Amino acid sequence: MNFHILTLFPDMVEQGLANSITGRAIKENKISINAVNIRDFANNKHRKVDDYTYGGGAGMLMQPQPVYDAWKSVQKDDAPHIRTIYVTPQGHTFNQKMAEEFAKEDELVILCGHYEGIDERVLEEVVTDYVSIGDYVLTGGELAAMVMVDTIARLVPGVLNNEISAEIESFHGNLLEYPQYSRPEVWHDKPVPKVLLSGNPREVNAWRLEQSVKRTKARRPDLYEKYFELQECMQLLLEQKLLHIDMIECIQRGGAELIYRNGREILLRDKDSDVYMHTNPEENGEFLAKLPLIKMAKIHCVVLHQECFIPLAQACTRGMAGGACRQAVYTRKEKLPISGLYRADGKPMPNGLVIHELREEDVQTAGEAYAAYGYLSMQETTEKKKEETIAEMRERFLDKALFGAYIRTEDGTESFAGFVGKHAEGSVGMLTVLPEFRGQKIALALETYMINKELEQGFTPYGQVREDNAASIKLQQKVGLCFSKTPIFWVC
Ligand code: SAM
Repeated sequence: MNFHILTLFPDMVEQGLANSITGRAIKENKISINAVNIRDFANNKHRKVDDYTYGGGAGMLMQPQPVYDAWKSVQKDDAPHIRTIYVTPQGHTFNQKMAEEFAKEDELVILCGHYEGIDERVLEEVVTDYVSIGDYVLTGGELAAMVMVDTIARLVPGVLNNEISAEIESFHGNLLEYPQYSRPEVWHDKPVPKVLLSGNPREVNAWRLEQSVKRTKARRPDLYEKYFELQECMQLLLEQKLLHIDMIECIQRGGAELIYRNGREILLRDKDSDVYMHTNPEENGEFLAKLPLIKMAKIHCVVLHQECFIPLAQACTRGMAGGACRQAVYTRKEKLPISGLYRADGKPMPNGLVIHELREEDVQTAGEAYAAYGYLSMQETTEKKKEETIAEMRERFLDKALFGAYIRTEDGTESFAGFVGKHAEGSVGMLTVLPEFRGQKIALALETYMINKELEQGFTPYGQVREDNAASIKLQQKVGLCFSKTPIFWVC
């Protein structure tokens, strides 16, 4: 991810970010910092960038021209303008949710003001987001920019060594992190809580959750309220666990935002994928009554747990109504046996089969195969849809959510045979075996691999199978997945 920081003090941001985790991320090319000196764009011989404010008042203001030219210097002629944040005490207060959203961008521009700030006219032309780091006034935007870069960078895949640590800390799922302890076991007569020495992960997790809830309630009642609301939804959703598994997992995995609730009618948004999920509105229909509002909100995709999807299809931006799917859920806790299918240690089976993260060179083939033999085979495969599928596949690859099955020969070369993946909102899917490798139980191996992987992360594995995909239904039944009695519908 590239950060372009427009500033009068480039050394300050470069030096500030050159240490510790951000420093390592820069060295490893996971992020880059392009600190642009606004003064280099002053068009006067004294390199002056500020002047008095019209109408009087104390202090100097940064003039529009150098700021605009500095901003222009990082834009590419043929590409859309890069999202541009002005750090200002007048912006929305920065938080983890915003950081998660900004982390989805490939590039960001952060504009730092100084003195009294920046001429309004240039802000109107270049700024897309106004962000404050708190209700106090700094002398310049550099510290604010550094706070933002540090927070966003650690969400970029590969920046933190431990991939999951960014996911389970404070603010995840509206809870603050639980108390943590390291050696020694007793310090100042205070022993480490016994349960943490028990070696029982289930008990440890239960204790941590309890502590998180207690701590959030005491220190951040505003967050606790959101957590509590989602827990109430969870109780209702659990009454039809199979049908609502996507919503349940969305809450469990900490990605849910409650958009709307009226009795049993619940609309959630998955923050990672921007997919909305909705329970049956027929009981009170408030959601349908709000359709014009939804249109305005430009919902990208909604999963409906009911049938009246046509008006909603019209409301959605892409105007595409999906077919009926069944939720397919692996309800057991224990992993599936793996011998005979693939090896968990990554070594090849006697038939040479190995499964590991998809190789980059196979993304295009995977996208084409998915478009041709996967879900699109049941719909019309247009060139545009194919391109979209390949682009989606690339995104999933960058998120490390695709796994390839390879037949490895003795000399170590691998032939790409098929793949499986995880959609951004959490369901397992995209399972495709290339035609020349069919009939070798590769699909079964991939399915088993994914289920076990999900279980390892403490998730309930689930997928959404189209009702007209007989081969997939048969496979899921063979593996022992349970199906929801009623269908769900994707509308995009
Ligand atoms: N006169 C400005 C106002 O009242 O909004 C404050 C200007 S401040 C002294 C100079 C610069 O510091 C701002 O242009 C902004 O870039 C940065 N800054 C100050 N406080 C900030 C905050 N809380 N969050 C983000 N940036 C801040």
